[in-house]
Amino acid sequence: MVLKEFSLDGKVAIVTGASRGIGKAIALTMAEAGADIVVAARTASDLEKTAKEVRQLGRKCLVVPTDVTKKEQVEKMAEKALAEFGKIDILVNNAGIDIRKPMVSTKGTSASDDSALSMEEWCKVLDTNLTAAYFCCQAVGRHMVKRRSGKVITIGADEGEHDGVNDVAYAVSKAALLRFTKGLGEEWAPYNVNVNMLSPGLQHTDIWKNPELKLTPKENESRLQKMSTVLGRWGELREVGVLAVFLASDAANYMTGEVIRLGGSGV
Ligand code: NDP
Repeated sequence: MVLKEFSLDGKVAIVTGASRGIGKAIALTMAEAGADIVVAARTASDLEKTAKEVRQLGRKCLVVPTDVTKKEQVEKMAEKALAEFGKIDILVNNAGIDIRKPMVSTKGTSASDDSALSMEEWCKVLDTNLTAAYFCCQAVGRHMVKRRSGKVITIGADEGEHDGVNDVAYAVSKAALLRFTKGLGEEWAPYNVNVNMLSPGLQHTDIWKNPELKLTPKENESRLQKMSTVLGRWGELREVGVLAVFLASDAANYMTGEVIRLGGSGV
């Protein structure tokens, strides 16, 4: 029998980036644990697929196509969630992107060489991985702080603590998100709103497609196969979902400002 503290029965969760990959897995696992779900990302058709699976699990699902880098859209997302469900218990700031490029061109010194990280790319990574969390936490946190109840989960990455070669924008965004999580965890502790970071290791999702590296799918696959962990495998999406359920549940009431790694690496 599962302990009642792990149940999300009667809870409402917003999951950003729930159209595929880790966000979709978190949405489905939270639904399985009893939560009704609000799914947000840019691609409505993919969100509808997630919603169909949530509903098949017997839970309600509200689809809100949202670009999380746009403050007005995020505010509307929170308003729609509240209008539909009357409350928001859980916010998962999962939407994220990675643009892997060196800081300067390794081919030459031309400022127009697109092999180096451009300012637009730098901003896009920081807007999606960091500023969006600020927009979401303001829009949803207002309601949680007022209710004196809530669980916020940010999604980190190993690069936020180490690594980051040819991946500085991503590493900086996740390192800053880590500090954001710790700071907000402390700030909202008096209001009974817990803020924790779940930092997954290697997960086979679209984020590894790396179109900017201009590799064929076969070259990319062979590159990915060389990446390993001490456990000798990549993670399973459901493993991330299960840990997210824990962090969103009453079982994690005494945790805030923590970083929980699920990296298979022991590093
Ligand atoms: P995917 O590329 O599979 O999914 C990314 C999700 O984010 C999609 O649902 C996408 O939907 C959404 N998204 C991207 N940009 C925006 C935007 N501007 N507004 C709203 N939604 C957006 O990646 P993963 O599932 O792998 O990544 C999810 C999170 O996990 C990220 O934060 C990533 O950094 C982190 N992570 C991933 C790891 C891995 O190995 N896969 C390891 C460690 C951390 P759409 O395009 O429809 O908007």
